[in-house]
Amino acid sequence: MLTMVGYCWLCHQSLYFAHHGICHICHQQLKRLQRVCPRCALPAKSRDFPCGRCLKNPPPWQHLIAITDYAPPLSRLIQRYKYHGTPQLATVLARLFLLHWLQGYRDGRWNKPDCILGIPLHSKKRWRRGFDQIELITQPLSRWLQCHYQPDLLWRSRATLTQRGLSATQRKTNLKHAFQLRGDFTDQNVAIFDDVITTGTTLHEASQLLIRAGAHSVQAWAICRTL
Ligand SMILES: [Zn+2]
Ligand SMILES: [Zn+2]
Repeated sequence: MLTMVGYCWLCHQSLYFAHHGICHICHQQLKRLQRVCPRCALPAKSRDFPCGRCLKNPPPWQHLIAITDYAPPLSRLIQRYKYHGTPQLATVLARLFLLHWLQGYRDGRWNKPDCILGIPLHSKKRWRRGFDQIELITQPLSRWLQCHYQPDLLWRSRATLTQRGLSATQRKTNLKHAFQLRGDFTDQNVAIFDDVITTGTTLHEASQLLIRAGAHSVQAWAICRTL
């Protein structure tokens, strides 16, 4: 198994804290999403107020939180994690997200959720990959943040086509009633995690389900957000 224990996954320099996986310099150099709307994380005039698009059509979540655009170096790291059998990158990516989230939390920009859910994978994809890339990230996040976590609370009730290559309308139709919830979410503050948010259709469908189930608030979490 290819491991990078003790070396930075990005610059290959040796690490002072081997379990961090990314060195301090590479971490500092990540190009964060700066002036983006708090609700859709797309470029906006202010990061404190929702953009015009979100005022007109508010998404079902209160905050969309992602570290960077889907661009190198994090896009390469995610591809390596998902498509090149590197599950050991899960805690590295989870830690990067945690640090990013904590910064906003300390600045008072968002609150701690009561519970964390992951977008469920297609069973075929999980079987082919040999691991669930979402679950391996949400597990440590829930442990570190001391939030409730149970992997099967959100589940796919039917098979769907892969979203890639579909139009916006096709994406919506494809995912209609694709998810189901277990458990009681009344008055819960929930965070839903996906590795990459592109159009947000998947998270939109899952968030709506939570709101209908009585959730008080939803945070959409991702490592990267396609701009
Ligand atoms: Zn580095
Ligand atoms: Zn917006």
